[in-house]
Amino acid sequence: MAVNYAAGLSPYSDKGKCGLPEIFDPPEELERKVCELADLIRSSSNVVFHTGAGISTSSGIPDFRGPNGVWTMEEKGLSPKFDTTFENARPSKTHMALLELQRVGILKFLVSQNVDGLHVRSGFPRDKLAELHGNMFVEECTKCGKYVGSSRQYVRDAVVGSMGLKPTGRLCSVTKARGLRACRGKLRDTILDWEDSLPDRDLTLADEACRKADLSVTLGTSLQIKPSGNLPLITKKRGGKLVIVNLQATKHDRQADLRIHAYVDDVMTKLMKHLGLEVPEWTGPVVVESADSAEPEQLHRLKPEAHGLLKEEPFSQHNGTADLGTTLVEHHDNLKQECPSPDTGPPLTKKMKVEPLLT
Ligand SMILES: [Zn+2]
Repeated sequence: MAVNYAAGLSPYSDKGKCGLPEIFDPPEELERKVCELADLIRSSSNVVFHTGAGISTSSGIPDFRGPNGVWTMEEKGLSPKFDTTFENARPSKTHMALLELQRVGILKFLVSQNVDGLHVRSGFPRDKLAELHGNMFVEECTKCGKYVGSSRQYVRDAVVGSMGLKPTGRLCSVTKARGLRACRGKLRDTILDWEDSLPDRDLTLADEACRKADLSVTLGTSLQIKPSGNLPLITKKRGGKLVIVNLQATKHDRQADLRIHAYVDDVMTKLMKHLGLEVPEWTGPVVVESADSAEPEQLHRLKPEAHGLLKEEPFSQHNGTADLGTTLVEHHDNLKQECPSPDTGPPLTKKMKVEPLLT
């Protein structure tokens, strides 16, 4: 849970502005704004969405800086309330709407700060998704890929059990093309701690997507975390539009062409109607590696004895986690290593930091 997630991170004094009042646009204004958003989407050719913890609160996972957020409650000496486990959380209307927007070709790329794994579990293609702060369900090999510039990742059907890029206790089962022995490199989780560097592949893809985009839409984030929260500004600086959907004020409100204050699920449901699209039903966790593959990837069942049993971790709130379904992924590092163009200002900070709202 986000609770465990918070508890698993190092202490960090300044977590940004928390618990700001929520703003609700009156119904007529909301209708008008969503209509305007639909028009903006229709007139754009490259739309990127950015998501934060606010899109998962309706899935039962608390956000961080909302009135009942993890850090807001921490400031008050209270514990946040959570209604589910990561494994049992269902993707929200927003997650499913984003999936459909990708399928029909409107959404070109999705940048998420969320570690809850709901985008991946909703079936959102991983090659169109940057998970900038990691994913509770993903572990990766620290050995293979080290020399060839790719990292083997495993998408599990239970949370991997550690945080802060620490060893999970399992070993890599990749067999080299000619060899008979498995890699057996140590696997580590992908969850960033404060001031950890963002994953290169995801940050590069996100940065590239924001440069190409002519519309960036942010959903459920106060945009206070750097560099993730600054990525939507790249689109804006290059002549694109910026739309911010959030209940609270955000760090970049002044830069927005349109600000919508409403529940993201309401906004996305209305938006889909305007666009004549259905929000698909979720039928259970799947992993789709590529937008080009018609079918979800085959889930590989691991034989626990061959790869090391899962440790007994407090996160494990259900039985049978040792027999994880898993899918193996290799991220080839075929990204162009280009220098940032001179017109875009200094390169992005790569470390995760809070840049609080100025209020
Ligand atoms: Zn390996």
